[in-house]
Amino acid sequence: MADATDHLLTPVLDDDGAPFWDHAARGELRIQACADPECGELRFPPRPCCPHCRSFDSTWRKMSGKGRIWSYVIPHPPLLPAYAAMAPYNAIIVELADAPRIRLVGNLVTTADAPLDSVSPDRIRIGAKVQAVFTEVDGVTVPRWVLERP
Ligand SMILES: [Zn+2]
Repeated sequence: MADATDHLLTPVLDDDGAPFWDHAARGELRIQACADPECGELRFPPRPCCPHCRSFDSTWRKMSGKGRIWSYVIPHPPLLPAYAAMAPYNAIIVELADAPRIRLVGNLVTTADAPLDSVSPDRIRIGAKVQAVFTEVDGVTVPRWVLERP
């Protein structure tokens, strides 16, 4: 069996989050929303109960995939071997344009399938507009982000 630290980390799929990854596999960024007609609040990470009205009914609302960089970090060693090979890479927090209270963690890349170090750290700016793209990592389709104006 291969050493797990030789691979990029992939999401842990659970019942609450499974629809997020199913939609991602179809190239859609969807966020869980309360299905109570008087509430409708979005929530992330996915969970069974609405924190606003305590409803257990939910739906998955399609997002435009547009957002802006809310924050970012350039991880420094020590890193897992698979990540050390790609350093310097970035991890960004994206604030969704459709839901400014929802922020997702991901990587800024030049194209969906580009390596994690494809964007030079000096090109990353807080507030820069980004767009979600999707790629497969070890059998799981994950969202990544590209600059709206490269
Ligand atoms: Zn609710």
